[in-house]
Amino acid sequence: GGADVEYDMVVLGAGPGGYSAAFRAADLGLKTAIIERYATLGGVCLNVGCIPSKALLHVAAVIEEAEHIDTAGIKFAKPTVDVDALRKHKDGVISKLTGGLSGMAKARKVDVIRGYGHFLDPHHLEVEETTGTSQDKTGAKKVVKFKQCIIAAGSAAVHLPFIPKDPRIVDSTGALELRQVPAKMLVIGGGIIGLEMATVYSTLGARIDVVEMMDGLMQGPDRDAVKVWEKQNAHRFDKIMLKTKTVAVEAKDDGLWVKFEGEGAPAEPVRYDMILQSAGRAPNGKKIGADKAGVIVGERGFIPVDAQMRTNVPHIFAIGDIIGQPMLAHKAVHEAHVAAEVAAGHKAAFDATVIPGVAYTHPEVAWVGYTEAQAKAEGKKVETAKFPWAASGRAIANGADYGFTKLIFDAETHRVIGGTIVGPSAGDMIGEVCLAIEMGADAVDIGKTIHPHPTLGETVGMAAEVAHGSCTDLP
Ligand code: FAD
Repeated sequence: GGADVEYDMVVLGAGPGGYSAAFRAADLGLKTAIIERYATLGGVCLNVGCIPSKALLHVAAVIEEAEHIDTAGIKFAKPTVDVDALRKHKDGVISKLTGGLSGMAKARKVDVIRGYGHFLDPHHLEVEETTGTSQDKTGAKKVVKFKQCIIAAGSAAVHLPFIPKDPRIVDSTGALELRQVPAKMLVIGGGIIGLEMATVYSTLGARIDVVEMMDGLMQGPDRDAVKVWEKQNAHRFDKIMLKTKTVAVEAKDDGLWVKFEGEGAPAEPVRYDMILQSAGRAPNGKKIGADKAGVIVGERGFIPVDAQMRTNVPHIFAIGDIIGQPMLAHKAVHEAHVAAEVAAGHKAAFDATVIPGVAYTHPEVAWVGYTEAQAKAEGKKVETAKFPWAASGRAIANGADYGFTKLIFDAETHRVIGGTIVGPSAGDMIGEVCLAIEMGADAVDIGKTIHPHPTLGETVGMAAEVAHGSCTDLP
């Protein structure tokens, strides 16, 4: 009783997790609605994440390529950058995709309820409605009853508490708005998001400093790959301050004055025109009234789930950034399908062995499964095969002979259990390594697979051939 509308399935949040779950649930016959506060579907990924960043990184890559082709006797003039037109281009990419999603929701008869949702009890959500064109509340409220629910409310950028509010200080969402190209920019946090944005802004003309608390940029991939990346990207940075913390920011008329502490810290405050806060993202678990539904939320805001994506309340599922690391769109989508299928009564569980990670920088860095560092830390016996792109015809032709493809094999079973690729299109190529791992392929399987020549993808096969050399059981 007391509900304005009632559904078999209500999905809270319309990011890649949420819309994938809703579409799958509807396809499996459940009467489904999505609650979303944004005016468009797609969540962080489409509106302020994966897609806009890649639209800008593509432009940056074109500029970079044009600048480096002079070694081939081709000289372009320095590009003129029309920031307003570039912003429009990026927004056009987003609206094409969000418009497509909206059409797909309609085609499946998935209702979209616009507003902020929070639980009232284990079977009701209240939605404070938004205008449909903005995130502003209209004052109207609606109670939505559900038989089952999937929480897909995602995450938000962490804002350091001592950093003042100032239009020159942005998080990734602000950086993607592309309001200005500063002369001097500080990137707080040397993770993927920070380095992708550093790539965009530096290509558009900004000088960049990066400050990172850990002892290296880009946690995740092996250091040999990051070293290649650093060498190719050295031209962007004035300073990379490792093992260093930002401790104070003062917003003055003449700039943002920043104090640092740690191994890389300059003695005096440094002046910047713009600061990007990209020191991590936090789940939205504590913002949805989960306790009213009896759903347990961990201390840091993550919602624990089982392999079927069920929370402690069996008819309420959770997926995507809100359940844990890695906070990646393809992980959210995979979990979405599991949750929707289980909710529809199908047998499904999360049993992917690996989740790939990619920095879509120039060059790209992609890794999946075991790294050498992780194997070493766990005392796992592995064999490593590394194919340097200096021996790839296509890489040399493309001016990318600095890259490499590395495969990691279990020393006992000889199955591939990891891979790292650095170079242009590494993110596209890592998919083959993911498939090989999921299928239990060994070096022979990959090496004897005929790859097209000459391609960068061929280097995966060549790395496997390198591994053949160390295998004793080969013909
Ligand atoms: P989200 O996409 O965060 O969606 C959650 C949705 O829920 C949002 O639309 C939000 O408005 C809505 N919501 C939250 N609370 C409520 C509420 N109470 N009521 C109503 N609606 C609510 N990942 C990749 O895999 N590849 C990339 O290249 C990549 N690039 C990125 C670049 C940037 C700059 C950022 C910030 C992230 C990037 N990510 C990337 C990460 C990716 O965006 C996330 O992993 C992904 O969006 C998570 O999907 P999700 O469905 O869990 O949540």
